[in-house]
Amino acid sequence: MSGVVVVGGINQDVTVRVEARPAPGETVVGDGPAVSAGGKGANMAVAAARAGAAVVLCGAVGDDAAGRTQLEQLAAAGVATDRVAVRRDAATGTALIVVTPDGENAIVVGAGANATLADDEVAATCSGAAVVLAQTEVGAGPVDAAARAAAAGGGRLVLSPAPVVPLASETLALADPLVVNESEAADLCGESSAAAVLARTGARSVVVTLGAAGAQLADATGSRQLPAPRVDAVDTTGAGDVLAGTLAAALADGADLDAAVRRAIAAAAESVGYAGARARL
Ligand code: ADP
Repeated sequence: MSGVVVVGGINQDVTVRVEARPAPGETVVGDGPAVSAGGKGANMAVAAARAGAAVVLCGAVGDDAAGRTQLEQLAAAGVATDRVAVRRDAATGTALIVVTPDGENAIVVGAGANATLADDEVAATCSGAAVVLAQTEVGAGPVDAAARAAAAGGGRLVLSPAPVVPLASETLALADPLVVNESEAADLCGESSAAAVLARTGARSVVVTLGAAGAQLADATGSRQLPAPRVDAVDTTGAGDVLAGTLAAALADGADLDAAVRRAIAAAAESVGYAGARARL
């Protein structure tokens, strides 16, 4: 068994900077659009490849220019794309991002092809992977299928429920680790400490990311906090994706959980020093 399979979303991000968000019925003209590669699954796959893992991305794009661009950029980053389905009847997923001068984002996502991933496509791709990293932009069903396939094949499940969707309790219980930021932890189970999330979800281990403060880790041996190095933050977009992808790569490389989380925190902290969700692609 070798390598990392990432099951997750692939999007084009279309960003416009505006002075103020439009009110209902209003049209606002801003700067842009800036079009970039995104989707949490794709971002995680690129981070895992950059961390040295052999990575296969399992997802779906439309048979359109945006989809072809995503596939080219993923391949250039060293991610195997032969298990990314190309759909004739759905558009590539698109995130419409409006940024105001206060730095706040308002985002609308059209899931497009991401919503078409079938359980059997996921199962076939995940069997045999050392680590399966599953992310919920493709919906709950494919993530539950990824968890079952990882368990059946003896692979390790790293689970990123971002966004939080209703997953099978068996999926949460297989997560080793479940990786969430504090707001996802609260959405998932009304608690944000790693120990409480561990107790509530029944996961094998839990990582709660804490931005500049690093991450908290909990497993059967207890909980501990691992700090992040101090960096001049330029853009924190996608930091959580870099953390999850690097963590999966480190586990596939044989690192224990604490060492893997340390490597992941370092890579995520480095990424916030650069602009863009896929810094330095
Ligand atoms: P998300 O991007 O999902 O909201 P976080 O904001 O918790 O997640 O960030 C994920 C990880 O990125 C953190 O655990 C940390 O390693 C790193 N990170 C984020 N912001 C900073 C920062 N300002 N300084 C250093 N590291 C950071």
